[in-house]
Amino acid sequence: MKRYGGVTVTETLGSTMGALDAIKIQCPYCGETIKVLIDCSISHQSYIEDCQVCCRPINLDISADPDGDLAVFVSNENE
Ligand SMILES: [Zn+2]
Repeated sequence: MKRYGGVTVTETLGSTMGALDAIKIQCPYCGETIKVLIDCSISHQSYIEDCQVCCRPINLDISADPDGDLAVFVSNENE
C-alpha cells in the first residue's frame, strides 16, 4: 500500500513496466484528472508535465522513501 503526501493524487494504477508506476493526479489549472508515469527507482525527482487536457505545465515533485512509498506534490507554475 502506497501513501501519498500530496492531496492531488487520486489513484495509483499499479506498476506497469519495470520501475514505472502510473498514478493519477488532478490538474491544478483545469481540475481534470490526468495519468502520469513516474520512475519509483529515483528517490527524489522534480519535473514539469504538460496537462493532457489544457496543455499547461504542471510542476511535479516526487519523493520515494526506501520502502517505496511515494510522496507526490503537484503545483502550478505560479506557486
Ligand atoms: Zn489541465
